[in-house]
Amino acid sequence: VTRHIAIVGASLAGLRAAEAARRLGFDGRLTLIGAEAHLPYTRPPLTKEFLTGGSVESLALTSSEQLHDLGVDLLPATSATGIDLGARTLELGTRRLRYDGLVIATGATPRRLSSTADPGLKGCHVVRTMDDALELRSEIRPGTRLVVIGAGFIGAETSSSARKLGAEVCVVEALSSPLSRALGELVGSVCGRLHHRNGVELRCGVAVEAVSGRGRVEKVRLSDGDELPADVVVVGAGVVPATRWLEGSGLTLRDGLVCDANLCAGPPGVYAAGDVVRWPHPQFGELRLESWTGAAEQAATAMRNLLDPANAVPHEGVPYFWSDQYGVRIQCLGVATGDVRVVAGSIEELRFIALHCQGDRLIGVSAIGCPHLIMKLRPLVRRGAGSSEAEALCRDWDPALAADAV
Ligand SMILES: Cc1cc2nc3c(=O)[nH]c(=O)nc-3n(C[C@H](O)[C@H](O)[C@H](O)COP(=O)(O)OP(=O)(O)OC[C@H]3O[C@@H](n4cnc5c(N)ncnc54)[C@H](O)[C@@H]3O)c2cc1C
Repeated sequence: VTRHIAIVGASLAGLRAAEAARRLGFDGRLTLIGAEAHLPYTRPPLTKEFLTGGSVESLALTSSEQLHDLGVDLLPATSATGIDLGARTLELGTRRLRYDGLVIATGATPRRLSSTADPGLKGCHVVRTMDDALELRSEIRPGTRLVVIGAGFIGAETSSSARKLGAEVCVVEALSSPLSRALGELVGSVCGRLHHRNGVELRCGVAVEAVSGRGRVEKVRLSDGDELPADVVVVGAGVVPATRWLEGSGLTLRDGLVCDANLCAGPPGVYAAGDVVRWPHPQFGELRLESWTGAAEQAATAMRNLLDPANAVPHEGVPYFWSDQYGVRIQCLGVATGDVRVVAGSIEELRFIALHCQGDRLIGVSAIGCPHLIMKLRPLVRRGAGSSEAEALCRDWDPALAADAV
């Protein structure tokens, strides 16, 4: 019998798993273990509204009262350091915690720079936590020279917000266009134009060799020999799944915690959700998502399957993420690989919908500046509709596109 469910990671996926447990009628003990000192909060605003001055309260995903009403015991500022799967026991430093069911939702942590001479160099930031964002925003003022390493979502959103604050921004990207890994070359090149239009210098196809300064960052040296003066550096070089504490546990780790189609990590009663999970999506094959919606949806599936393993269901939500940069919303449904074709709007206007197809099957949609219309394609991506059906649906969308503002 499952009397005590422990959830490791007190952020979006962890909280949503706890909420799902109660919604599904679980009336046993629920413990939520989180390394951060804060109550669960949401991360997307950290590089957006929050960086330009949003309040701490606006990030809240829940409150102490709500957790109390849910009957959740939150252990803040507590890291799980190991696990004994046979004894169903978590190690929390020197403490031990027995569980009957477990959800692992430890997310991901940002990659840091290996090229920094001094790891304690002041003025070098990553943005993953509220504390990271608070520190960064205290350093950006009008005229601050900011160098952003990596033109991915974190780097691009940080640049956009820093421009709002009046900083001078240069983005350095090793690939030939920004976001091309996530969105493909076409959409990536549009993101590059957004930077230029907003007064950001974008240096693609060049690597960072060294970040240096005396005590505090002063310059960034590039592989083409250039040196960029810098008051502040933000590293947006991707994340690694937070699985270090699981090494040697017997669970399978491969750029994430490897789960089966039902989000079970192997041993009965052990499930996972969120950025930490790698699982075989029935339609798209093995995936690990870094997406707000994906984390919330996985949490619900993981808890449902934990509580009723005999009727476990595979997790098959359509991958979705959005990003807001320079006042424009960028969105992606499914996977942004394969052949890409703009079917509504135009690249010149920076407002369009593009279909991604494999053969004649729709596998994804990417869009810029049409936040609502793209969602009409979600059911088609879900069932892998034919590309001609998707094209026909979008055929008369041009007028609607103009009205579909953020
Ligand atoms: C700045 C930023 C902007 C983003 N913007 C968007 C966006 O616009 N759109 C979008 O779709 N997605 C966005 N995302 C991604 C989205 O926020 C993540 O996908 C989501 O937070 C994943 O939730 P999670 O609960 O799986 O992991 P996380 O939110 O990473 O939470 C994991 C938690 O587990 C804790 N933890 C880790 N290890 C341990 C341990 N051993 N013991 C106890 N606790 C531990 C961590 O401290 C953390 O609090 C953004 C992310 C960031 C950082």
